[in-house]
Amino acid sequence: MIERTKEKESLILDRHIDIARDGFAALEKVTTFCCSGCGLCSSICHLGSIAFDEVKKRPVLTGECNKCGCCYLACPRTFLPLTKIEKTYFGGNGSEEEKRLGILSDLFLARSLTEKIYWEGTPGGTTTALVHYLMDKGYVEASLLTRNKHADVKFCMHPEPYIASTPEEVFASAHSKFEISPVLAHLGGLSRYKSTLFVGTPCHIMAFRKLQIIKKDEMFRTRMKRLSQIAEKLTAPVTYVLSINCFLNHTDMDKAYEWLKVQEKDIARFNENVTKELAHEALEDGKDWRWFIKSSVVTTDGQVKDYDILQLGVLLLYSGCLVCNNMIVSRHADANIGFFGAETGLKEFGWNTVSIMNPSLKKVIDQMVADKKLARKPILRNHGRTLRKAIEVLMRGLMPSKDFMGVSNYLQTGEWHYPESIKKIKGPRRGTYILGLELLYLAQTFRKKMFYDGTIKALRKAGAYRTTVY
Ligand SMILES: Cc1cc2nc3c(=O)[nH]c(=O)nc-3n(C[C@H](O)[C@H](O)[C@H](O)COP(=O)(O)OP(=O)(O)OC[C@H]3O[C@@H](n4cnc5c(N)ncnc54)[C@H](O)[C@@H]3O)c2cc1C
Ligand code: SF4
Ligand code: SF4
Ligand code: SF4
Repeated sequence: MIERTKEKESLILDRHIDIARDGFAALEKVTTFCCSGCGLCSSICHLGSIAFDEVKKRPVLTGECNKCGCCYLACPRTFLPLTKIEKTYFGGNGSEEEKRLGILSDLFLARSLTEKIYWEGTPGGTTTALVHYLMDKGYVEASLLTRNKHADVKFCMHPEPYIASTPEEVFASAHSKFEISPVLAHLGGLSRYKSTLFVGTPCHIMAFRKLQIIKKDEMFRTRMKRLSQIAEKLTAPVTYVLSINCFLNHTDMDKAYEWLKVQEKDIARFNENVTKELAHEALEDGKDWRWFIKSSVVTTDGQVKDYDILQLGVLLLYSGCLVCNNMIVSRHADANIGFFGAETGLKEFGWNTVSIMNPSLKKVIDQMVADKKLARKPILRNHGRTLRKAIEVLMRGLMPSKDFMGVSNYLQTGEWHYPESIKKIKGPRRGTYILGLELLYLAQTFRKKMFYDGTIKALRKAGAYRTTVY
């Protein structure tokens, strides 16, 4: 990260304002590798000329471009004023917990106590329960969420962003869809309301926080007047931004179904996305959390297909996820909800790990618990801490920013071929003794070492486009 001073920031902005004069053509340099698929640029274009390609998961120009440069300047993958974002929105630079999770008002495990939500949620339905409660109690009027594109398919992995304007409409958002969802392409639709929220992955949160900074900060307001006005309008109705964990996301899931020879309508499990019936059956059979993170597809007629996660990656890897510096959780959301860290050992499934950064949401959660809408229990801490730290030291020694994902090859050929060394990396073993929060921390370090560091190094080496983070 570049050290931030006013002069340096001004120089960075000079450079990007200059590049932005090419309009959408400038943005295309970002989308070649670094786009996160957040959809924000589509909301920014005042001519309505940017659409989102649902297969490639990239923005495309569909109309006139007058080269105003706003889409390029708003994009979180052009330049990212991370220091300002951290200072303003729950960043955290102090303790290990703050660095990894944010400045916390609360951290706990939870699950919905509304049966309809719990049985649909991945895994505990806490996100859906929280959004439903916030709408039902009038904290917000509308919510920007992601539902199944194919409403009749239970395990539909094709995301469709939509705006829920009644609490009942929130139910459709439950369960994770493993494709990029351009949530922020629908931000403009919230301007009809006074108070709203959106749920996204950490990159959506980062994009939104950049937009808020562009609206708020004096230097941006002076130097990017038009964009600052657009940012004002788009951010005004949003009261809460909620994040779900995200390790990696995918492009076109249909390619995976073709490869696995399964039909989406027949699926009862895709990785951790498991029907509750199947999950409870597995627990009764003595399976533990390792079963739940296994790369496997189970169909409704009981067929089990374990698959090679690397091969799936070759088919579906989204390059923008490799330059994601969020490390699974969002430290900048009002609340972040995942499942890593909720594995309390053996006999329990269906809980979420919840970190609350906005103190006003902590009060809402307390009320939900009192109203019996949410079950809450402490997260398991310090379970295998010494071992986790020792593994991290080893990782730092053995994985010095190596290009594990074969980025340099991808830049030359446009295809993913991972180096042989990646196949030697093994997942958690039966005797693993790292659980709860320590497991989440280990996953974060693993993600950074394996995906992020090597990618950034390879892009730098090839002189390819990289986000300016300062
Ligand atoms: C691609 C992807 C990768 C993930 N990887 C991890 C991981 O490695 N570790 C981990 O702990 N958790 C991961 N999660 C998060 C996890 O699957 C759950 O979404 C999270 O724990 C919330 O659970 P819940 O039961 O509260 O959600 P639910 O109550 O089921 O609600 C799901 C919420 O997620 C939103 N949503 C669903 N799909 C998408 C999407 N594609 N993009 C944006 N929003 C979406 C919906 O709007 C809804 O609000 C991932 C999620 C996704 C979509
Ligand atoms: S926002 Fe401006 S530069 Fe970008 S596509 Fe629209 S008109 Fe062109
Ligand atoms: S990262 Fe978001 S704003 Fe940037 S090009 Fe991709 S979709 Fe558009
Ligand atoms: S890995 Fe990062 S960039 Fe990719 S979808 Fe998840 S949060 Fe967004």
